[in-house]
Amino acid sequence: MEIFRFLEVPGIMSSQIRQFDWSKTSLGGINLWPVSFRSQVFIMLNHPFPMMLLKGKDLHILYNDAYIPFLGSQEQENPCLGQKSMEFYSSNWDQYKTIIHEVLKTGKSFKAEHIQWPDPEGGINDESYFTFTYSPIMNDEEKIDGIIITLIETSTYIESLKKIKDQEIKINLAMEASGIGFFELIIGNNEINEFIFSDSFLNLIPLKTNPNYEDIVKIIHPEDFPLGLNAFEEALSTGIFYYTPRIITGGRIRYIQVKGKIVPSDSGFPYVLLGTVRDITDKKVQDDKLNHSHKLLNKSLVEQVRLQKEKEEFLQVASHELRTPLTSIKGYGQLVEELVRERILEDEALMLQKLNERISHLHSLVENLFDVSKIHSQKMDFTNTVFDLVSLLERKVEDLRFITYEHKIIEEYLFKASLLADPDRISQVINNLLTNAVKYSLKGTEILVRSLEYPGHIAVEIHDQGVGIPPHELHKIFDHFYRSPNPSNPMIRGLGLGLYLSSKIIQKQGGKIWAESKVGKGSKFVFILPTIQL
Ligand code: ADP
Repeated sequence: MEIFRFLEVPGIMSSQIRQFDWSKTSLGGINLWPVSFRSQVFIMLNHPFPMMLLKGKDLHILYNDAYIPFLGSQEQENPCLGQKSMEFYSSNWDQYKTIIHEVLKTGKSFKAEHIQWPDPEGGINDESYFTFTYSPIMNDEEKIDGIIITLIETSTYIESLKKIKDQEIKINLAMEASGIGFFELIIGNNEINEFIFSDSFLNLIPLKTNPNYEDIVKIIHPEDFPLGLNAFEEALSTGIFYYTPRIITGGRIRYIQVKGKIVPSDSGFPYVLLGTVRDITDKKVQDDKLNHSHKLLNKSLVEQVRLQKEKEEFLQVASHELRTPLTSIKGYGQLVEELVRERILEDEALMLQKLNERISHLHSLVENLFDVSKIHSQKMDFTNTVFDLVSLLERKVEDLRFITYEHKIIEEYLFKASLLADPDRISQVINNLLTNAVKYSLKGTEILVRSLEYPGHIAVEIHDQGVGIPPHELHKIFDHFYRSPNPSNPMIRGLGLGLYLSSKIIQKQGGKIWAESKVGKGSKFVFILPTIQL
């Protein structure tokens, strides 16, 4: 058998071509094939891509190994090698005829990109996509006498395209759901070259289906337009675009927030502004409302502070002005009472005693108000000396016994200690607590006054069996002017200043004061003060 070098190529098709009896075809026996045809066959057999040659006046079919899977199941029984194209493709010849004739006539290639494989029986997955080329081939006389067909599979490319499209749909859906629109402005030589936007952008800014940049500019509130230019200027230096203009659509003003980033190209121009758009009208309305209520609140706070200041000034002036004449009245009253008693005018003395008691009460009220005004103006002063607290307690209990015979006062001094403090101020605290114990408990009940050791301190406890204080009021009773809304309270006289002053005095003297109580059972007031070692 004659050896043909151009058919010495590994594979099935090279041997099939060799064995085929070409002498019965218009191509003639292999030994007669011209060089151009031989080299076309050689290239085809060596090519890794599927290739087919349609050669000669009958367009006889030749193909390489890579093409075999595309020939379908009948290739086994009825191989198409050497057949005339028109006969082999008789069933769909019309489909190919036009293309083939056009290529042969014009000598120009034909290309069909990303075509789904047309023959499902061809043994190829019908989801596959191909790019076909039909290129003319020439004979030795440089006349077109055939066509070379190549196939390139582009399924992976199409798959990726589909995935990108899917992602785009998903991103659009997500943007729509989150109320965010996306846009891209391609800018070159200081003018907008292209304006691209997502579907969700149009949902936010309802314009005609294909708006251009000018359409968008038209709906921006005229007052806010210059701000956009400023934002753009700034973005050119910082790279960040931020702009919250009002837009007018459907006769309504809405607030939108535009955030973007400038992405320059390597040469600087053109560059791209990538950004998102969000409708912030609801948020803006809420913020405005909040700002308005903040302003109102601030105004009322300022007003409150002003009123408080006025109240304090009044308290200071009034208590100061009342205090001086009242002290003289009190002194004269006591003097007159003594004189009347000396003259044994019992009835008149009793009346004067009552008068003096009222004056004393009035005097202590004014003193309390005066102290409060001093605390508020940070002017409460203390004259500290060393003294024995238990002795002071004994004296104060003794004084109380003069005023009330109806309560049983028990003293239990378990610890004695000296303090460095102002004895007058501490007396004031003890007085307040003892008179409260008397005021808020029934006649005949017990009042227990105790002293105890407390680490580094002495503790004083005053227990009563009185009305008690509900738990939710316990933290309020030390506030100034606080009086319990207890129904029996209005019957008991007071300004609600005693505990407030006591707590301030104890704090200033380095101690602590608190209360424990059970409604209907009684209360315990405790204060502790630091002791000194003598
Ligand atoms: P005032 O006694 O003048 O009202 P205070 O500041 O001394 O003012 O007391 C504040 C409030 O605390 C009283 O109005 C009363 O409701 C409550 N309170 C004080 N001490 C007692 C107590 N021992 N038992 C029950 N309630 C008390």
